Amino acid sequence: MLVPPPVITRFAPSPTGYLHLGHVVNAIYVWGLAGANRGRVLLRIEDHDRVRCRPLYESAILEDLDWLGFVADEGRHPPARQSDRPGDFSDALARLDRDGLVYACDCSRKHIGGKPYDGRCRNRGLPRDAGHGLRVRLEGEPSGDLLVRDRDGHWTYQFAVTVDDTRQGVTWVVRGQDLADSTSRQVALARLLGREAPATFVHHPLIVDPEGRKLSKSAGDTGVRQLRAAGLTPEAVIGRAAAAVGLTDAPADVPASSVARLFADPPSCRPAEGGAK
Ligand SMILES: [Zn+2]
Repeated sequence: MLVPPPVITRFAPSPTGYLHLGHVVNAIYVWGLAGANRGRVLLRIEDHDRVRCRPLYESAILEDLDWLGFVADEGRHPPARQSDRPGDFSDALARLDRDGLVYACDCSRKHIGGKPYDGRCRNRGLPRDAGHGLRVRLEGEPSGDLLVRDRDGHWTYQFAVTVDDTRQGVTWVVRGQDLADSTSRQVALARLLGREAPATFVHHPLIVDPEGRKLSKSAGDTGVRQLRAAGLTPEAVIGRAAAAVGLTDAPADVPASSVARLFADPPSCRPAEGGAK
């Protein structure tokens, strides 16, 4: 008999801005699905972007999360940060390198022009100098070979998140619909890093503005800080986020401790097929 793996998911904010309702939606899905499946939630500060991350944002995010009442099973005291474990990324790169899968690439984003990367640098034998990015070969992957380190020497989001999810044994990746396109690349990369069974990927709806664009950090009136300052309770903020993506019919108070109830019968949230490929 097949026994499904335990549900281990994560909430992984980047300290590049303050929490807004879009993050609250993600937290509802992460803690809700974990709670409804007797799973665990890991907290991870995704600070791989050393240029844009600020300690100020990290402490604000943690404080807002505590205020909302979302309690992680691991990674809160002390906060687990990607930057605490730089060796994980170089070890993962070394592993891919041993398998002959890594090559240098000098293409700029402009050069590639938003299209899938065609692998033009695969056999050029470029040196791994400053100014060259590093890519990993992903055979048969329609989006092309994945950039793992950019031209400035920073690990990319796709690489860092996959290394961490693999190392931490995350079995459910719960994230916004906007990231669905990267699922097959992350599954392929995780396999190359030694992961046997792929994670289940769940993609949830996003809050969009009247023009249909994803909520951004600059959307002032949706910031958790602003809503707090306006006198809203944590339950009201969570309720507002839940209603914005149709988890409830109308904004009503939802305490963080009961978000699992929203997923007792999950009509709008089935694991994406991408995870099984
Ligand atoms: Zn290239």
